[in-house]
Amino acid sequence: MQTPPVLDLRRAEFTIAAQRIRQLPADSGREVAFAGRSNAGKSSSLNAIAGRNALARVSKTPGRTQQLVVFELEPGLRLIDLPGYGYAKVPPAMKALWEQTMDEYFRTRRSLSGLVLIMDVRHPLRDFDRQMLEFCAAAAIPVHILLNKSDKLKRGAATNTLLAVQRELEQAQLGEISMQLFSALRSTGVDDARKVITRWLLQEQPDE
Ligand code: GDP
Repeated sequence: MQTPPVLDLRRAEFTIAAQRIRQLPADSGREVAFAGRSNAGKSSSLNAIAGRNALARVSKTPGRTQQLVVFELEPGLRLIDLPGYGYAKVPPAMKALWEQTMDEYFRTRRSLSGLVLIMDVRHPLRDFDRQMLEFCAAAAIPVHILLNKSDKLKRGAATNTLLAVQRELEQAQLGEISMQLFSALRSTGVDDARKVITRWLLQEQPDE
């Protein structure tokens, strides 16, 4: 007999878009954050995983792309859509503010239980991605990488990329990192991603 899922990620409801860390909901319970360079497919992946088209629309609202967008699953359990950048011309002041906000978020947020990092399988491990991996390594936050748009590559080429990224990150010793091939477009890998996120959200911590 199969155990019924205890947490349905499709229950995510938009709660708030925060400009600053202090505007986020109280730092209790658990949250899993999503990050990705713009155009890697972060909104599409979040939608595929949370199964709600409304989520992308919320995060893509003009003005929200620089905010931390919070979706509550149930009291004390959240998904956080982190602001990204990645366009060639980000004004330096905006990038500096982004770095400051991300640094504060990863250093201080106790309820943060894991980061889902979305990359385009054809362009993995760009500066943005490495920076996120370093934030997480410094804060001992586990990372699960989705190598998205795997539908764009033949199976062999996609697997080679997966192995190459795995090898490089093992050598870099950047902490607890897992990864998988993913396609938001085809919904490939959605169940595996949901399992990781659910595990992070429901795990118990030693100090509780
Ligand atoms: P974001 O900027 O990271 O939130 O990216 P979006 O989710 O808006 O996606 C950027 C572009 O990539 C859009 O044109 C999507 O349709 C496309 N895209 C996203 N995921 C996939 C995927 O798995 N496969 C393919 N082929 N295209 C995708």
